[in-house]
Amino acid sequence: MPSIRASRFRSIAAVSAAAAVLVIPACGGGEQPELHSRVDIPGSAHVAPHWDYDAEGPDHWADLDRDYLACKSGHQQSPIDLPSHARLEPSEHITVDYHSVPELALVNNGHTVQANLPADNGNRIVVDGTPFDLAQFHFHLPSEHTVDGAGATMEVHFVHKSAAGKSAVLGVLMQATPDPSAFDPILAFAPQAVDAEITVTGPVDLRALLPGVVDQFRYQGSLTTPPCSEGVSWTVLGNPVPVAAADADRYRTLFAHSNRPTQPLNGRTVTLAGG
Ligand SMILES: [Zn+2]
Repeated sequence: MPSIRASRFRSIAAVSAAAAVLVIPACGGGEQPELHSRVDIPGSAHVAPHWDYDAEGPDHWADLDRDYLACKSGHQQSPIDLPSHARLEPSEHITVDYHSVPELALVNNGHTVQANLPADNGNRIVVDGTPFDLAQFHFHLPSEHTVDGAGATMEVHFVHKSAAGKSAVLGVLMQATPDPSAFDPILAFAPQAVDAEITVTGPVDLRALLPGVVDQFRYQGSLTTPPCSEGVSWTVLGNPVPVAAADADRYRTLFAHSNRPTQPLNGRTVTLAGG
């Protein structure tokens, strides 16, 4: 049973809001928080604006910042409604090579609870022959993707990066159950305060977080959070995994809802591959 080893708070105050901005992408933008230096010109300093799922929600993201324009003008956006009758392409299945990790750093970044993995943790997926290393995973409530219009209680996104800097996300729908689930040791320790970080010592077996049957929906999409960048290779597993209803209820107290609505397909092809 994993346990909390330490708790600490990030020092956001040390980052000058005018000179730099702390960017913690929720969906594939990078494996670790990145510091992007900005030119500090009085009156024109550019700081990534606040966004949320309410007053400054998905319908307004593109209006908040010019860097978020893809949220409105993009044509390959995520999430989408997945058609169960998607074209079968058994040979297109991705390889999921997950195992145990010694610890996870759970961060509440104000949008989600994100589990950052140690560098070179060895977990990866292989998409069309290209390896993508697992950097982090995080949660949405309710699910962002739907299947034939039906959503799930939650969704977990495993975010990977290739050596060339491309993103590939593995999405897994999470359906509430009265019983305990493999997510208990993670969600039970979800930091409640924004910017709080908690280290969960494992081992945590990431394979336990995946369903046994791994039919895979695949399509080309985007980050589901600002800046909504496209060019993301998406795989969403066709079967959900259980999440304890108590964990989902607790997560709901942190983030009442954190799902971008499904986006138009715009002619994209969704395929269904076997595992
Ligand atoms: Zn996500």
